[in-house]
Amino acid sequence: MAWETLIPRPSSRFLRVRCRTCESEQIIFSHATHTINCRTCSEKLAEPTGGKAKINGVILAILG
Ligand SMILES: [Zn+2]
Repeated sequence: MAWETLIPRPSSRFLRVRCRTCESEQIIFSHATHTINCRTCSEKLAEPTGGKAKINGVILAILG
C-alpha cells in the first residue's frame, strides 16, 4: 500500500472564534457545512468549503 496516497483524515474540532467586527466570541464547528454568522452583528464568521470551514474571525482556542 502506498501510504503517501492516503489523504489524512481531517480532525473536526470546535473553535472559539472572535468576531473581527464586534469582538464577541462564539463557538463554531471547524467543519461547518453552512455559513455561520456572528450572533451579535451578523458578520460572517465561517463559511463552508467542502472540508474544513474557512474561518473569517480570529481563532482564540481550539477545543477538544
Ligand atoms: Zn460580530
